[in-house]
Amino acid sequence: RTVYLNGDYIEESEAKVSIFDRGFLFADAIYEVTAVVDGKLIDFPGHMERLTRSLGEINLEVPFDQASLLEIHRQVVARNNLREGLIYLQISRGSTGDRDFNFPLEPVAPTLVLFTQEKALIENPVAERGQKVILVEDWRWLRRDIKTVQLLYPAMAKSLARDKGADDAWMVENGQITEGCSNNAYIVTADGTLVTRALSNSILAGITRQTVLQCAAELQVKVEERAFSAEEIRQAREAFSTSASGFVNPVVQVDGFAVGDGKPGPVARRLREIYIKNSLATAID
Ligand code: PMP
Repeated sequence: RTVYLNGDYIEESEAKVSIFDRGFLFADAIYEVTAVVDGKLIDFPGHMERLTRSLGEINLEVPFDQASLLEIHRQVVARNNLREGLIYLQISRGSTGDRDFNFPLEPVAPTLVLFTQEKALIENPVAERGQKVILVEDWRWLRRDIKTVQLLYPAMAKSLARDKGADDAWMVENGQITEGCSNNAYIVTADGTLVTRALSNSILAGITRQTVLQCAAELQVKVEERAFSAEEIRQAREAFSTSASGFVNPVVQVDGFAVGDGKPGPVARRLREIYIKNSLATAID
């Protein structure tokens, strides 16, 4: 695999970063994940907007603009002949050659890394069968709106889900669902209303969420942006999650109980179809 590191396209085994890099020592880094279908970038402007916002929230100034980041995305796709999968981008605050909690006062070159991962996104068996999720307390920090690489708790929660035979964990705070380990969470209530938590510091503003809510408007599905509880999932007709790496993924079981009839629901299926159609139509070559 050819990866990008600070100006160079190199073989992955050649890509080396300092052990003093603040991304490694402090998780002082921001990331983005963009889907690729037919070699094209899905929802790219949205991911770049969120990247700019995340960098601003942690006062990380970078010397590259969106046009050069687009070019690097195109290059890693082309150099790896990537047709379908993901592009991971990470920007860390770089290295001062020492360990110091303080942000450096003098400018330090950030570390910019991009690599690709092949993944079947359109024909995804998980989307066909539906996911099982467990509920866990949300023990993350309170700035989940910033897409930092500080992902230890979601990694623990997802592994716990796997240990229990589930696919993912949905996190719960004050009795209300915040989001999945790496996705936004939704239910469809008995009266057909689509419910997903409103944007705040409590969740990441999913780029897929933004596009899927536009798709819901197109399908004339009523949407309420508000928190929902585990009890409401029990009474829901459907549940699903959204992310750049999963698009729309039906959830058929939560903590061992079946959601609705225990099969992927029609709203999730239609949203998945229309999301794929619309985002392919606007994808960037
Ligand atoms: N919430 C969290 C915590 C995430 O990690 C992600 C994916 N990175 C999302 C939501 C979904 O965001 P997106 O649709 O932009 O992939």
